[in-house]
Amino acid sequence: MSVSLWQDRSKTSNSAISEFDIVIIGGGIAGVSTAYWLIQENEGLKIALVEKGQLAEGATGRNAGFITCGSVEHFNRLVGKHGAKEALEIWKFSEDNLALLQEHIIKGSAADIQFEKNGSFSLASTEEEFIELKKSYEIMKELGIEVEVLGQEAIENRLNASGFVGGIKYINDASVHPVLLLDKIYDQFRDDKNFTLLENSEVFNIEQVGENKRVHTKSGRLDTPIVIMATNGYSAQLHPFFEDKIYPTRGQILATEPLPKLLEGPCYANFVLDYFRQTPTGEIVIGGFRQLKKDTEVGYSDEVTDVIQEALEDFLKKHIPSIKENKITHRWSGIMGFSADGQPMVGAIPSDPQVYFIGGFTAHGMGLAFNCGKCLVDVLFDREIPSFISAKRFA
Ligand SMILES: Cc1cc2nc3c(=O)[nH]c(=O)nc-3n(C[C@H](O)[C@H](O)[C@H](O)COP(=O)(O)OP(=O)(O)OC[C@H]3O[C@@H](n4cnc5c(N)ncnc54)[C@H](O)[C@@H]3O)c2cc1C
Repeated sequence: MSVSLWQDRSKTSNSAISEFDIVIIGGGIAGVSTAYWLIQENEGLKIALVEKGQLAEGATGRNAGFITCGSVEHFNRLVGKHGAKEALEIWKFSEDNLALLQEHIIKGSAADIQFEKNGSFSLASTEEEFIELKKSYEIMKELGIEVEVLGQEAIENRLNASGFVGGIKYINDASVHPVLLLDKIYDQFRDDKNFTLLENSEVFNIEQVGENKRVHTKSGRLDTPIVIMATNGYSAQLHPFFEDKIYPTRGQILATEPLPKLLEGPCYANFVLDYFRQTPTGEIVIGGFRQLKKDTEVGYSDEVTDVIQEALEDFLKKHIPSIKENKITHRWSGIMGFSADGQPMVGAIPSDPQVYFIGGFTAHGMGLAFNCGKCLVDVLFDREIPSFISAKRFA
């Protein structure tokens, strides 16, 4: 959002300029994970995390809660693009993300944050997609990734879902309540005396002042040698570098009232474009169908539209007929950041090297951002990170 001269209270309030070692912009899973890893690295760093709304205001508070491995496409396609060796590394990167979350954050509190490790499914509505899934299965098995093939009957029995010709199950995937997970990460450092959270503080300008960056929010100014943008889908609003690198893309969802247990685990359908799962408290959450209206499902507006919401309802009625009559309690949308190649971007802006960034999760940040935050700290401390997430690949 733009800010007028009159709304910029830092011009009139005589507020002191606060000084920090690092200012992180964005209170989603990427920004909060980065803060966590920075504090692990060096407790003495004076860090501010600045968020325009409240923590989890953006996509992190609005997603479906899948913590899945891999990428935006079936594994056979990932191998086609990257080769088997790098495709396996990409897969393992998200496996590591989950392992790190379990070791550092979730520990013994899985039930408190509705974390479940029931695997996830990719379901094919057509023979053509099932052929690709079976190809993926063969390659994955060969590479040592745990995966299972399911026929139509198994899908009906284990997922109470009809209209799918077959599918595969990724054994080690998980799901979570995304806001409770974010709170849990934040709990690890919220009392750190060198950490400051500034909510309701939209950043509208990052200015060079001498050797420092000055971060302008409506209510105040922060000086720092290092800025980290963890603004994902919103990044181009703040810095032109992202205009042709991270594309704001809207995703829509609906949720039903709680139902008796129907689904063994979270499911993707239609080449990873559509998805549904049942929460531990029984609600069915279903999202996707932006492919129906590619022209409207871009930009920064978080409205819901009839076309997509009706498509979500029709999908539910067709594939899980037993829930035809149940009440829909919530409908919402969120803005995702898509990168050009579907992989996240971690690095610094070449023409503005004091500004680092983490984003471009392409609808998979829950399965990537914790590990990417760790990698961003590696970049800050001059350590190598995997080339497939390094922003240098676009230099
Ligand atoms: C409908 C939907 C379903 C999804 N489902 C899944 C899923 O099941 N699994 C999965 O892995 N991923 C899913 N995603 C994607 C996932 O939510 C994102 O990849 C992830 O949340 C990105 O986290 P982030 O911290 O980078 O971005 P965000 O959570 O968007 O955080 C960015 C933050 O920056 C703040 N901000 C922006 N501009 C400014 C500014 N100028 N000043 C201050 N603060 C600012 C925003 O308010 C926001 O809180 C889904 C996304 C959507 C929208």
